[in-house]
Amino acid sequence: MTGPAGTEPVVVRVDRDRCIGSGMCALSAPGSLALDADGRARPVAEYADAGAELTDGLAEAVEYCPVEALALHSARGGYRIAPAE
Ligand code: SF4
Repeated sequence: MTGPAGTEPVVVRVDRDRCIGSGMCALSAPGSLALDADGRARPVAEYADAGAELTDGLAEAVEYCPVEALALHSARGGYRIAPAE
């Protein structure tokens, strides 16, 4: 993982077309991601909008999503932090 982890608020984006609902991310980062009624992941409010501190669990969730459906972005600049493009 590259980027200014820990110092900058981040938002997490979920490609819901790609998500297969494994639930791994919601287990790794329950404060950041949850499963919707349709079984696919979504970010909790602050990680969808204003941004919040990057946690180890969220970094792991993004890294280990089996279908690469998660991406971290800067809440300030909008640029992508992970995974690397
Ligand atoms: S780990 Fe990936 S595939 Fe599994 S629920 Fe989260 S976003 Fe979806």
